[in-house]
Amino acid sequence: MTATDTLTPFSSLSPREGLDFDAVLRTYEAVSRILPETPAWSYPLLSAEAGVDVVVKHENVQPTGAFKVRGGVALMAALSPEERRRGVVTASTGNHAQSLAWAGARSDVPVTVIVPAGAPARKVAAVRALGARVVVEGDTMCDSLAHAEALSLSEGMRMVSPGDEPAIVLGHATVYLELFRRHRGLRTVYTPVGSGSGAAGACLVRDVLAPECWVIGVQSSTAPAAHRAWKSGKPATVHSHTRVAGLAVGASFALTQSVLGRSLNDFILVDDDDIQRAVGLMSTHAHTLAEGAGAASLAGLMADPARRGPCAVVCTGGNADDGELAAIADFADSAVTDMALTC
Ligand SMILES: *Cc1c(COP(=O)(O)O)cnc(C)c1O
Repeated sequence: MTATDTLTPFSSLSPREGLDFDAVLRTYEAVSRILPETPAWSYPLLSAEAGVDVVVKHENVQPTGAFKVRGGVALMAALSPEERRRGVVTASTGNHAQSLAWAGARSDVPVTVIVPAGAPARKVAAVRALGARVVVEGDTMCDSLAHAEALSLSEGMRMVSPGDEPAIVLGHATVYLELFRRHRGLRTVYTPVGSGSGAAGACLVRDVLAPECWVIGVQSSTAPAAHRAWKSGKPATVHSHTRVAGLAVGASFALTQSVLGRSLNDFILVDDDDIQRAVGLMSTHAHTLAEGAGAASLAGLMADPARRGPCAVVCTGGNADDGELAAIADFADSAVTDMALTC
């Protein structure tokens, strides 16, 4: 590791930073020191298929393969010296774990990740390879979260929530800072929603840089907790049975809902099969390997009868699992068949 990719504490950030545009700008100073701007551009075939001009913002090219690394970097930069010394703990098998592991290694903050027994071996190996301590504990993610909280108390580590962390929302907002600065005149941005931290970040930036642009959330109809909370204005817990790992969230989060409730323009639910088709479309029409959650915003665009261009979708991640990879081949096959039939 060289001096330039080491994170220095960013003293003007605090973990309790308010959620506003100025805080996003301060966060971007920390994030952009480590992570270069990601590309955002259009693909003629994809725009033709959608019937509107579509910009794809590529977070799949991040070092961990997902946008969440921005949240990890922002969180590490916001820790106090004492918190940095004691380290952080969380529970996750996915992109959140890799994000903290990557950012922790670059800021000399010890990271402990609790994973449930039975978590996919390849994902656990990735977290470990990035330098985190992995503890296998619990049968479900809920058990692992409870264990993380217990360990945070007994070992003095800072517990990191996957949803209610202002620094993480601000880190995720920097995706949209880059997008709106680079592409003026967008009329709609589709953003995938699990905990809602990415969508909340999108709203914070849009409110200032592109007030005319709509931000539309997209969630799996089989894990609709944030959607239900947004519709009803009340916290929601809904059992998740989606195949899409990055969107498998069973409860709404108060912090992100406080932003989405006042700022999100619309919220679309799509089926897991719609998301899988969008994974295929990303591969055949945008040269991009997306995981399900990374293609969900495109699925939302394709499902939106009122779509208004120019619009943007965010490919939030590329860590496709084995099932998603296998299904791309089926999608490509069916695309070939369609073509043969139309000749
Ligand atoms: C976590 C995740 C999401 C959902 O983001 P939230 O901020 O939790 O709403 C979307 N895409 C990918 C690839 C993710 O890892």
